Amino acid sequence: MSTTLPVTDTRVVIIGAGQAGLSVAYHLRRLGLVPAKDFVVLDRGPRPGGAWQFRWESLRLDTAHKVDDLPGMSELGVSFATADQTLPARDVVGDYYGRYERHFGLEVVRPVEVTRVARVDGGRYEVETNIGTVRTDVVVNASGTWARPFRPSYPGAETFSGIQISTPEYRTASDFAGLDVVVVGGGTSAVGFLLELENVASSTTWVTRRPVEFAMDEHSRVAAVERADAAARAGLPIPSVSSGTGLPASPRNVAGRDRGVLVDREMFSAIEPDGVRWADGSFQHADAVIWATGFRAELAHLAPLRLRESGGGVAVERGRSLRDPNIFLAGFGPQASTIGANRAGRLVATQIMDALAAQNARAT
Ligand code: FAD
Repeated sequence: MSTTLPVTDTRVVIIGAGQAGLSVAYHLRRLGLVPAKDFVVLDRGPRPGGAWQFRWESLRLDTAHKVDDLPGMSELGVSFATADQTLPARDVVGDYYGRYERHFGLEVVRPVEVTRVARVDGGRYEVETNIGTVRTDVVVNASGTWARPFRPSYPGAETFSGIQISTPEYRTASDFAGLDVVVVGGGTSAVGFLLELENVASSTTWVTRRPVEFAMDEHSRVAAVERADAAARAGLPIPSVSSGTGLPASPRNVAGRDRGVLVDREMFSAIEPDGVRWADGSFQHADAVIWATGFRAELAHLAPLRLRESGGGVAVERGRSLRDPNIFLAGFGPQASTIGANRAGRLVATQIMDALAAQNARAT
């Protein structure tokens, strides 16, 4: 059966059914809006699970940071904290999100891709998709970052004769069996790859922009989220949270460091056909380079709204665009974690209800 839009005119369109989009939908429903009538959730993925459905097979919930439960998920009698840690995280998250959508009747429409959001007369918006157009009063963008991995440029990258991939292209360690692998990036994904490759690759080399510390604590995490929040309000590029926090000093990470697998060195300065070279002239042979170097928000479909500031970012406070108060960005900047996305749900939904009430008052 082909996918169709349930309505062509609504009050709120939510773009994306990951943790952020589902959380907003849950709160809107609780506040009295009717799914598939007053609001519509549009998602490009073929199945429930947001970006999690595309993560590599070997990623488990207990090796991810910590996946917070969606709001109200306890009603379903499930929790990520007690989920089967032996199953792939992508399957567990996909399963739980799917049950959640059904339980709360969120009526997510998929697969449907939003291609363009533009203003139309009367202060409303037209949301164009590959299966039709919806008019709406409010737009919530919760499109995540998975489709926009960031890869920094280094001289010679195009001459490299081996494999170069970014995080979303990683499938399994066995793809790198017997290879010399360079892993770039100072976050959780890089650490996960290095540990998986330990006894599979011929060698691993870890390079990071800043020296890695295994010392993350609550204080540094809060400080990093505050820095991301300040950047979002100022419309500046968002700093990565892990670059400000260090990585968790978990027994697994500390043991990896002690075995010499999780020992980083500074970034190389150039890439050559068969390896990478540092500024001091030293060279590491490489058959593969894995770029675990973060992501950028996927916002191209919002371009007609002209939300970008001269600093290059989109100015957002409490999940709301500072340029256009009827545009919300959930899961953006400081909200880019499952707990942040959850908080965004309540915060954004409450502001949406206020915005709709103000529009109703103007119309009468
Ligand atoms: P997503 O889950 O990316 O959902 C966005 C949805 O929008 C997707 O379904 C996508 O298909 C859809 N979409 C995008 N563009 C369009 C469009 N134009 N039209 C229609 N639909 C569209 N966070 C944690 O808190 N704990 C962790 O353990 C953790 N591990 C992570 C591991 C990795 C490898 C990565 C990359 C991130 C991890 N994160 C983790 C961060 C994680 O991204 C967030 O926690 C959270 O899942 C993001 O939710 P989201 O709803 O913002 O985005």
